[in-house]
This record gives sequence, structure tokens and C-alpha cells, in this order.
Amino acid sequence: MRISDILRRKGTDVATIPPSATIADAIALLADKDIGALVVSADKQKIAGILSERDIVRSMAKTVETNLSQPVASLMTADVFTCGPEATTADLMELMTQKRFRHVPVVEENRLVGVVSIGDVVSVRLHELEEERQQIEEYITSG
Ligand code: AMP
Repeated sequence: MRISDILRRKGTDVATIPPSATIADAIALLADKDIGALVVSADKQKIAGILSERDIVRSMAKTVETNLSQPVASLMTADVFTCGPEATTADLMELMTQKRFRHVPVVEENRLVGVVSIGDVVSVRLHELEEERQQIEEYITSG
């Protein structure tokens, strides 16, 4: 399945946060939206980085007291892997497994048009596997 099909279903809304926002703001937004990562962007289009709950946990484990008023830019990953809408779920499964992250922003013509999480990919894959199972069952029982 193509990423554009996933976005058609789940929508193109992306939770973003400016690089100058504080870590406290990011934690509040992650909790409020019940999500695991925020795309860091000043204008909601151009990607400056990605901040995942893992970045915050890592920082908290390192320092006795994490400064919650430090900017998001200080903890985010600036080198972000993205994909286009024409990528497939198989492409993303490979990327997420190789790089060990669970979120991939979707970019089309330099514009942020969505984000795909590992949960989205697993859900699509389960659906595809169930369809394949049904087809095999029909093939066997019709025969
Ligand atoms: P995650 O598993 O997505 O929660 O993130 C694990 C780590 O990978 C964190 O340090 C994130 O900042 C980073 N990360 C998450 N998604 C991406 C991405 N698409 N490109 C680069 N780094 C990422």
C-alpha cells in the first residue's frame, strides 16, 4: 500500500512545534495529543527536526534535573528521514527497522503533508495479511 492511501484515511494533520518552544511545552503537547513525536517546524511546512518522547527520556536519564525550559531545538534530531506519498508501507517498514525510529514525516514538493507512525504501518500490514489469508482460504475451499 502507498503512503498516500494511509494519509487519505488518517488525514494530513501533523502535530508540529516551533524549535524555540520549551521542552515543557513539548511534553504538554505530546500528552494532550496522545502521540509519541512532534515534527519541529517554525512554519508548519519546513522541517527543522523531530522530537520524540525517547529524546526527552534520554535527556532525563543523563542529567539529574532536566531543564524543562530549554528549547526543543536542544533535544530534537535535526537530521530527519522523510518519505514521499508514493513510498510504500514496505519501504517504511524497512526504514523504521533499519534506523530504529517509529515516525516518518511525509513531504511533497517541500511541504509537510503528513506523518506515518509504526502503528499506522503495522495496522495496514495486519489488514493486508488478513486479506491475503481470506483469499487463500477462498482459493482452497473453492477448489
Ligand atoms: P521514535 O522511535 O520515532 O520515537 O524516535 C527514536 C529516535 O529517533 C529519537 O531520537 C527521534 O528524534 C529520532 N527520530 C524519530 N523519527 C525520525 C526520523 N524520521 N528521522 C530521523 N530521526 C528520527
